[in-house]
Amino acid sequence: MASHSKVKASSSVAVTGRSDVNTALFTPKKHAKFRGSLKALRILDQQGPLAQTHIAQDLGVSPPAALGHFRKLDKEGLVVAVDKKATAGRGRPLELWDVDRQRNFTIGIVFTPPEVNIAMADFADNIVLQQAYDVGAVETCAEVEALIEGFVVEANEYLSKRIYDLRFACACLPGPVNMPIMPQIDIEGVFRRHEIPAIRTPISTAMLFGEARRFPAESTVCVVDWESGIAVIPCCGDRVLFGDESQYTSVYNRRKICDFGHQRIVKDGRPCPCGNRGCLEAYAGGRAIIQQLNRPNIRSLSDLCKAAQSGDAEVLRELALAARYIGSALSQFVLLMGIDKIVITGPLSEVFSLVRQDFNDGLRGFLDEPEVENLQASVSPDPLGLLVKGSCRAARHLFLNSDLPLDITFLPKIMMTGS
Ligand SMILES: [Zn+2]
Repeated sequence: MASHSKVKASSSVAVTGRSDVNTALFTPKKHAKFRGSLKALRILDQQGPLAQTHIAQDLGVSPPAALGHFRKLDKEGLVVAVDKKATAGRGRPLELWDVDRQRNFTIGIVFTPPEVNIAMADFADNIVLQQAYDVGAVETCAEVEALIEGFVVEANEYLSKRIYDLRFACACLPGPVNMPIMPQIDIEGVFRRHEIPAIRTPISTAMLFGEARRFPAESTVCVVDWESGIAVIPCCGDRVLFGDESQYTSVYNRRKICDFGHQRIVKDGRPCPCGNRGCLEAYAGGRAIIQQLNRPNIRSLSDLCKAAQSGDAEVLRELALAARYIGSALSQFVLLMGIDKIVITGPLSEVFSLVRQDFNDGLRGFLDEPEVENLQASVSPDPLGLLVKGSCRAARHLFLNSDLPLDITFLPKIMMTGS
């Protein structure tokens, strides 16, 4: 218990490197029993329901070997016989199998300071349990760990009445600038006590599995998270293509933060909480807009939205300026990354429709009219709900791929440089 040191939530907390978090995955003993059969489970997840003979072909093994995999998965409650398909001509009907999506569950955690949302979902994406906690006044890691612990106990109670299983947990966290105590919270430890493997990943993981998954897998979708700061997450298939946590960021990079919101748009410009000057966030993030307005009645992002919606001219002018900055910063990035579609999410997406024209004007910096139109910048239908769903889906993805090295199955990584 001595490791639960008291850490004050202050932006001056030194963030130490903890690059091993994604590689040291706890594996419960029972996982060892079916680890070798996860490939068969993945095929079912992507193409099911399927007959066992089909899986044998896909795996390149004999039908009896495939049967062995099925027996293991069936015994663990991971697959279920769903239907019988009549075969053409002679023979018995083929039995079809699928992943048992009703009996298996994951937990997703989304940190959007000052809130933490925790949810449990089944493998069919139905959320069965959800809690939101206000951690704005929380000062120690132990307090956050106790909240998570409480949820896991409740989840286990919910499941104990049934023959269900909690398979994996995924915590999606913001950058250390937004939540300084985050790196020290022992999320994995809480779940380990309950024999559940858990992983922490950047919040972009929840964007990938929540927002980008609404689009066809072959499109490159740029998720723009407009909140206190700005995160831009270009996604394609199961990959985040660029950012603080992508494969394109060298681990040897010594800059404090290198992501979209902290690109310099003004030389020697306004100071940014990251320590640099002139960052996009320092002009177009919610925190900066509130600072710039400097009005006693506008202290939070929701104050900002309310004022904009009631037609406050000064607020609308600041938001329009911010939207133009974001569009302008995106205009070359869209070309560089081959972006097909743009989705705006986060608390300020609520007012995006009021400043859409300004955002598009920014995009016109380097894009011509048809290019701007094709991007169809749209607002997320449910910013927080999709993040929460995305974190549960990410946990399912991680479980299904937990026999593979994490580096190749899951590119977003927490990178805490600057130590
Ligand atoms: Zn910055």
